[in-house]
Amino acid sequence: MYWFKNLTRFAYPVKHRAKFTPTLFSLQHIHQFSTAGDAAAPPTSGLGPTKKPDKPRVVVLGSGWAGCRLMKGIDSSLYDIVCVSPRNHMVFTPLLASTCVGTLEFRSVAEPIGRIQPAISHEPGSFFFLANCKGLDAKNHEVHCQTITDGLQTLDPWDFKISYDKLVIASGAEASTFGIKGVKEHAIFLREVYHAQEIRRKLLLNLMLSDVPGVSDEEKRRLLHCVVVGGGPTGVEFSGELSDFIMKDVRQRYSHVKDYINVTLIEANDILSSFDDRLRVYATNQLTKSGVRLVRGTVKDVQPKKIVLSDGTDVPYGLLVWSTGVGPSSFVRNMDLPKAPGGRIGIDEWLRVPSAPDVFAIGDCSGYLESTGKSTLPALAQVAERERGST
Ligand SMILES: Cc1cc2nc3c(=O)[nH]c(=O)nc-3n(C[C@H](O)[C@H](O)[C@H](O)COP(=O)(O)OP(=O)(O)OC[C@H]3O[C@@H](n4cnc5c(N)ncnc54)[C@H](O)[C@@H]3O)c2cc1C
Repeated sequence: MYWFKNLTRFAYPVKHRAKFTPTLFSLQHIHQFSTAGDAAAPPTSGLGPTKKPDKPRVVVLGSGWAGCRLMKGIDSSLYDIVCVSPRNHMVFTPLLASTCVGTLEFRSVAEPIGRIQPAISHEPGSFFFLANCKGLDAKNHEVHCQTITDGLQTLDPWDFKISYDKLVIASGAEASTFGIKGVKEHAIFLREVYHAQEIRRKLLLNLMLSDVPGVSDEEKRRLLHCVVVGGGPTGVEFSGELSDFIMKDVRQRYSHVKDYINVTLIEANDILSSFDDRLRVYATNQLTKSGVRLVRGTVKDVQPKKIVLSDGTDVPYGLLVWSTGVGPSSFVRNMDLPKAPGGRIGIDEWLRVPSAPDVFAIGDCSGYLESTGKSTLPALAQVAERERGST
């Protein structure tokens, strides 16, 4: 269901909407790359190089803050725009935490790409492809992609290529797990709408299960123990949302179990360690006042019902949210391009990837090369949004 989780449908009328189907691939704008001589391999389809009088093609990898802001500003009378991303919408991440507890609805924080750049829905040479980019062939001005197709009606994923005149890599970053065992299997990240949906589902399920006769007090406490790992802005904000939810909704609507629910925020250092002292103290006081237990510790192991800290303490949980920052994605790590400190794609002052002509990188996936003398900008939406002006 991975691909489905990444699709958001909104009820709004769209005229002449292009359908994303394999059949469309054989239409006029999509050329076949020859695989003659290799009878066993299926043909690789895709978008071939543009030819005059075609408009030059800008290919954007990613539909996040950076990619969407850039696409929104492209003049579609001058360029064809092709976006490749595993999700068909942009997520307004600062408000994601509020959707986990129902303060906001999920549709309020997701914007379909066709609304951000309408040309993608109706211009004959502009497309959105639900796919992951798997590699870059800078010499031939091509990206290699693979569709996202795993779902109930399974289609095997297929590969295709897209030629670009300009390529903008805006593929973001990945949640860091520091290689801790069990994080990916048992914890929920908070980066996508489907993560927020999973958090909300689990929170409500645990509230209801804990009210059913036959559940021991100890099990009730575990089910209703919400643990957040990571005291950065996202972890702090989410803990605050949870405690508001407990104070306002749980006390009223789940009063039988209200005394069993708790929130613990685990952080190896001070919370909000990169922020000003006054803000840190304020946040610590506010969280403590609203009942969030702050624990200084390092997680060593994550098991299905408990986490183990490095001092050997077991922390049972019913809901575990992991928010310990971000690092380069495997896509970026595997790219054969010079890297900036921290492993992001290295760029010059003009956001160009120096070793690859016509390739730019923006947002969380990129960082200034050491030779520029500039320090790496923080992984923030403000940065990602503003960088589009420089490309
Ligand atoms: C919960 C939360 C709250 C936040 N709050 C704030 C805040 O208040 N203020 C602030 O400034 N910042 C905030 N941030 C950080 C901000 O969201 C990021 O800095 C910003 O999203 C970075 O934008 P981006 O476009 O580089 O990456 P993203 O927005 O992460 O977008 C990356 C895109 O690339 C796609 N992608 C990934 N791999 C591939 C691939 N191989 N091929 C094609 N596409 C790919 C992804 O699906 C996604 O569409 C928050 C982040 C989170 C998670």
